[in-house]
Amino acid sequence: MAGLYVHIPFCVRKCIYCDFYSLETLNGSIPNRLKAPLPDHTEFLDALEHELRALPEGFRPTTIFIGGGTPTELSDANLRRLLDMIRTCVDVADVVEWTCESNPGTLTAQKGRMLKASGVNRMSLGVQSFDSANLEFLGRIHGPDDVRESFGLLRDTGFADINLDLIYGIPGSTLEKTRTDVEQILALQPEHASCYCLTFEEGTPLMDMKRKGYVAEVDAEEEREHYQLVRSLLRQAGYEQYEISNFARPGRICRHNLLYWGDGEYIGCGPSAHSHWRGRRSANVRSLRRYCRSLLSGDSPVDFEETLPAEAKARETLVMWLRRLDGVPRAAFQATTGYDYRELIGERIMELCALGVLEERDDVLRLSEDGLFVSNSVFAELV
Ligand code: SF4
Repeated sequence: MAGLYVHIPFCVRKCIYCDFYSLETLNGSIPNRLKAPLPDHTEFLDALEHELRALPEGFRPTTIFIGGGTPTELSDANLRRLLDMIRTCVDVADVVEWTCESNPGTLTAQKGRMLKASGVNRMSLGVQSFDSANLEFLGRIHGPDDVRESFGLLRDTGFADINLDLIYGIPGSTLEKTRTDVEQILALQPEHASCYCLTFEEGTPLMDMKRKGYVAEVDAEEEREHYQLVRSLLRQAGYEQYEISNFARPGRICRHNLLYWGDGEYIGCGPSAHSHWRGRRSANVRSLRRYCRSLLSGDSPVDFEETLPAEAKARETLVMWLRRLDGVPRAAFQATTGYDYRELIGERIMELCALGVLEERDDVLRLSEDGLFVSNSVFAELV
């Protein structure tokens, strides 16, 4: 099992909380606040083509994920070129799941048809909320009606596997609004939902607003209430929670993401994209300019790479694997990493079990109900 990730680093407008690498483009041209002109979409696709053509021999992905950024912000012609390029440069014979991210307000029937005809069989839509005030606060370009329109368009195009992203814990929002958001999601009946609490990341306008005292993060108790509400509504409606923040109808888990939450191999293309291939972790430069310059002059866009020592890698695998609610089977972990987790870090595991945030039953280690709410602190104890 291996996956291909393709990062499209453009968005119509930057959301205030976003720390993904993406550049704001307004009507297709990138505003140039610097002296030297930035590469445009064509130059980016030229560079991406170089990177895709240089994929390693023997790389046959079973999943593809086109993310960003906003892939559907590309023009029809550029989206067509991107999809053709992937089909030409990548052996797609084994691909069982091909996802493309999109944001309401950037999707048209023509783009939907193009994606479907090229083999994309799963769409992920950045909904975030159905509340106009929440959407405006987050800096989203869409309103609630755009979500319904985009979703309907995808269904009409024949997409039978759709994920909707939701954000809760937005300053000024309420439990009632979170309930309404989840109910609106349920009304659309997607196959998958990803629900995250709003995080305040360094370098974002949202963090600036917090520093200036304009907004405050929801406290831990409030976050827990929102999370619990989201979980119970989705679970009551028949969605299985298979990861800390991810829910799916039976048989509709995202296979590509399972590669990240285990020891799967994947290759990322595009600026800032990460890879894990043949024991080596690497990341591309987080700069469109440097990415294009490197590839178009025949150099590698890789900015950082490491091969973790076996023990460190096993600990990292344990932490990623614990994100899955079905937990870490001891035997499977040993077969994958060569380590018995009890010998690797047994004392710490016992302490965390005693604290009630981890539990081990029938040789399967998993986060407890309480552990789900403090997963990041648990993971920090294990790496
Ligand atoms: S649309 Fe997504 S990737 Fe683009 S700025 Fe907003 S959150 Fe970031």
